[in-house]
Amino acid sequence: MTIAQDVKCHNCGAPLSLKAGEVIITCEYCGTAFNVATDKKFFLKHSIIPSKLDEKGVLETVRRWMSTGALKPSNFQKASKIEGASLTFLPFYIVHINVTTSYEGSFTRTGGNEPRTGKLHKEYYWKILGRRGSRFPTREYEIPLSGKEDFNLSKISKVAKFLNAEFDEKDAEDLAKGEVADNQRFLLSSQVNIFKKVENTFEIEDIEFVHAPVWKVDFVYNKTSYQVLLCGSNGNVIRGDIPPPDQSVGGFFSDLKKAFSGR
Ligand SMILES: [Zn+2]
Repeated sequence: MTIAQDVKCHNCGAPLSLKAGEVIITCEYCGTAFNVATDKKFFLKHSIIPSKLDEKGVLETVRRWMSTGALKPSNFQKASKIEGASLTFLPFYIVHINVTTSYEGSFTRTGGNEPRTGKLHKEYYWKILGRRGSRFPTREYEIPLSGKEDFNLSKISKVAKFLNAEFDEKDAEDLAKGEVADNQRFLLSSQVNIFKKVENTFEIEDIEFVHAPVWKVDFVYNKTSYQVLLCGSNGNVIRGDIPPPDQSVGGFFSDLKKAFSGR
């Protein structure tokens, strides 16, 4: 949905096409990013990771993924019908954050009650996808930051979709703090299972804004639709649906043969 609003790019004067909920908009004519909530130029460093794979390369990669690796149906590649592939540039905030977690508690899992206190210090480059209510598996995506370049519209092919961010860097920072705090607690859970006190001190080193290329491939296997998400820069599968194994007797023997031949 495009809202009829007369917002123009401060850099080149072109009309900006705003969609409901979007806050950080990239001008599709000159590539300048704006915060439309504050009507100011967006000051974070904005990069793009170009897609090195085209559709043909993506489909080859998905077929290879289907025919290798454990726990996949033996006829996965042959019996799957690929329905289509689409490329979307997703907006991520990379929050470089230092955290020190001071904790007091105890460990009772071994039957005793050992008091535990200490500090856990860690440095993170925490990824926040700039979209609300998205089920994208951000934690599973190792964004290949080594492939990033200064933002440039020419790196986006005509067929690709481009998503703007729905919140700004301040919201991204708050989300990152919450998720990092959860992660610290998770790391501590092997030593402390009852917490009396947990305190986090955060230091934000830097935040940057990166558009990363994600391909979505739809396929049908055994009359059911599935998806694979993969990185357009390095071709890694971010997440791929694996259908349940073939339950027929023939499927069992074929899987067995595959297991013994080691492929
Ligand atoms: Zn512009």
